[in-house]
Amino acid sequence: MDHFAYRDGELYAEDVAVARIAAAVGTPFFCYSTATLRHHYKVFGDALAGLDATVCYAVKANANLAVIRTLAWLGAGADVVSGGELERALTAGVAPEGIVFSGVGKSRDELALALDAGIGQFNVESADELASLSGLAAARGVAARVAVRVNPDVDPRTHEKISTGRRRDKFGVPWPDARGVYARAAALPGIEIVGVAVHIGSQIVRLEPFRAAFERIVDIVGELRADGHDIRRLDLGGGLGVPYDGETPPSPAEYGEMVREVTSGIGCELVFEPGRVIVGNAGVLVSRVLYVKDSAGRAVTVLDAAMNDLLRPSLYDARHAIAPAREPAADAEHRPMDIVGPICESGDVFAQGRPMPPVAADDLLSIRTAGAYGAVMSSNYNSRPLAAEVLVDGDAFEIVRRRQTTAEMLALERMPSWLDGGRDRGAA
Ligand SMILES: *Cc1c(COP(=O)(O)O)cnc(C)c1O
Repeated sequence: MDHFAYRDGELYAEDVAVARIAAAVGTPFFCYSTATLRHHYKVFGDALAGLDATVCYAVKANANLAVIRTLAWLGAGADVVSGGELERALTAGVAPEGIVFSGVGKSRDELALALDAGIGQFNVESADELASLSGLAAARGVAARVAVRVNPDVDPRTHEKISTGRRRDKFGVPWPDARGVYARAAALPGIEIVGVAVHIGSQIVRLEPFRAAFERIVDIVGELRADGHDIRRLDLGGGLGVPYDGETPPSPAEYGEMVREVTSGIGCELVFEPGRVIVGNAGVLVSRVLYVKDSAGRAVTVLDAAMNDLLRPSLYDARHAIAPAREPAADAEHRPMDIVGPICESGDVFAQGRPMPPVAADDLLSIRTAGAYGAVMSSNYNSRPLAAEVLVDGDAFEIVRRRQTTAEMLALERMPSWLDGGRDRGAA
């Protein structure tokens, strides 16, 4: 469910025509819908009604300050995976107590930043990290609230590159080692054990892997309590999938029901870290068609957006629905089309052989479900400036990240002394 739909033959984001935004900000740009963000946050929250639950939005899915603040004002905390994301969450107005710091490789500087900010929970992924955190916290005379991320060795049956809970993945502490790590944690100064964390992957479209992982974690909570640890928070991570193009992931309500069954009677505050399911289809990437050509019998449409703007198709073989901003006639003939970006890589392809209505140069296309892992993964490859981001709310729209300029792209670079100045220096 989203708020991008045709009205009188034109694609609207809520009450604003996408073509009007394109005329104002240029292309390509990401367009986010406030109503859709609110809707998904509410649906997720409703699914957890009656549970003692905290929702910490996974900032890495979409780190725009305006998106984080929209969710923070609805009551969300934040799950962050770097010092940069921590600063974003704080800047957007998330209360420090509502911030969870995840990630397999937090640097000492990042841990120190988080301790000084007084965040709510560190999800620690190794005994080494625990030792670092202990030293830093003890030196400050504070206690870090810690959950250990346990790797339950469950296959989430999603794309290889976003599977995180199998034994061979780099994440967490292998579940058979959990008791040992907790025993060490309990003996360290500056560490206050508060819970257990798990996160098995992203774009998960079945309940069974979640259930298997959560059952294992609930067993571990029992063992840890028997060992004398005060486990009062259970962080179940994120990962619930969204429909990109025909997938049928479980609904938040079905997910919530399963969580209720598996955790019933456990007496823990539950923490959730949803990212994609909140922001995924709250965004589209709007791009203008540069050229249409016929290549060895195939129709090839070249966009002004590329893999540097939206990496998911090249990185994850993701299939995003793509629709023209002008509604095609009901009887328009659909022909297979390759939809590609201008980057000098054969992998810069958004769709291959996709049945599409007729498309011509200067048409606008919207690449759907680009709100999660879109702008955040963009780069300057081919020295393309970062695209603009726009937030719509009802009939209002504003730029929430302006397009980068070429001058800004070059500003971090400098000539070394031996290349600075006249071109004949050193030539002899
Ligand atoms: C990426 C991530 C999330 C969010 O995953 P989604 O699939 O976007 O819901 C949550 N927790 C952790 C630890 C993550 O790394």
